[in-house]
Amino acid sequence: MTDAVLVNQDFDCQTCGACCAYSAEWPRFSLETEEELDRIPADYVAADLGGMRCENDRCTALEGILGRSVTCKVYAVRPIVCRTCMPGDDECLMARQRLFGAAA
Ligand code: SF4
Ligand code: SF4
Repeated sequence: MTDAVLVNQDFDCQTCGACCAYSAEWPRFSLETEEELDRIPADYVAADLGGMRCENDRCTALEGILGRSVTCKVYAVRPIVCRTCMPGDDECLMARQRLFGAAA
């Protein structure tokens, strides 16, 4: 068993949310089709239509308390970047480090 697998087992997105509150530039759209984008409720889409709407660095579709209990209100239709961020990968570690510091 590798270290990466061990780390993955310890990461629980539903008690984290760090990557959803890392940067307003992160939940941007990329290769989504028009149909996929249409399924995301407009209230959560940025004014420039280029990504998710954030308040400060936090995606407005994230509900709950960071580091305790969170859910994505658009989980079934979330952008590609949200689907590709995996627990324990480089982006995940970077986001957790920023939010939780040494405890990440
Ligand atoms: S930072 Fe990592 S553990 Fe936290 S929600 Fe994102 S993918 Fe999951
Ligand atoms: S759409 Fe959902 S998964 Fe993506 S950043 Fe926002 S809250 Fe997180």
